[in-house]
Amino acid sequence: MENLDVFIPMPIQVVIDDVGWWSGEDGSQRQEPYRTGIPRSHVPADYQAIVDMGRMLGIRPQAAMILCEWDKENILRQLPTSTWMGEDWDNSRWVGPWLDEAAGIIRDNPDHFELTVHGVGHEYWLNGTFTRAEWTDSNGQMRPPDQIEKHLDYFEKLMNQHQLGPFPKSFVPAAFRHSFGPSTGRNVSLAELFIFNTL
Ligand SMILES: [Zn+2]
Repeated sequence: MENLDVFIPMPIQVVIDDVGWWSGEDGSQRQEPYRTGIPRSHVPADYQAIVDMGRMLGIRPQAAMILCEWDKENILRQLPTSTWMGEDWDNSRWVGPWLDEAAGIIRDNPDHFELTVHGVGHEYWLNGTFTRAEWTDSNGQMRPPDQIEKHLDYFEKLMNQHQLGPFPKSFVPAAFRHSFGPSTGRNVSLAELFIFNTL
């Protein structure tokens, strides 16, 4: 086993799931999102770590982002399906200087951080109870088209609160629930609705 030559190929792409939470807590037992499950709050250094990795590997990692905890104006009260608090949404706990700091890291490093749509709140809430997931249910049926359009609009509004740049070109479905083409009972596909949003 001596003198082994080991070659690790350069990755062509790295995708990081569930970027954007400020709380790391898995709250799924009480109808809050699973989040990252990391037992600490997230910090701007988490964003710098993605940029640093991208620079070292010469790539542009895709950060699949959830943006509800970036809402500094509580606009998600108008989109109750997007969060566990529904119309009583209050994100004041996560409004602080870390938002500008992390936004600055994202804005200043476009070659090593690709903001990717993952979701507003990751799941889909009706009357305080969530089902998986935000864009498509566990049977593969896309959520109602008007809801999809609103979730996309609010994702964009949250980006604009922090000048996070133009609407992303890439998407990772929340909880990987997705259907290709129109799903049962829908005459439009998720991809089509995304294209309309980015035009
Ligand atoms: Zn996720």
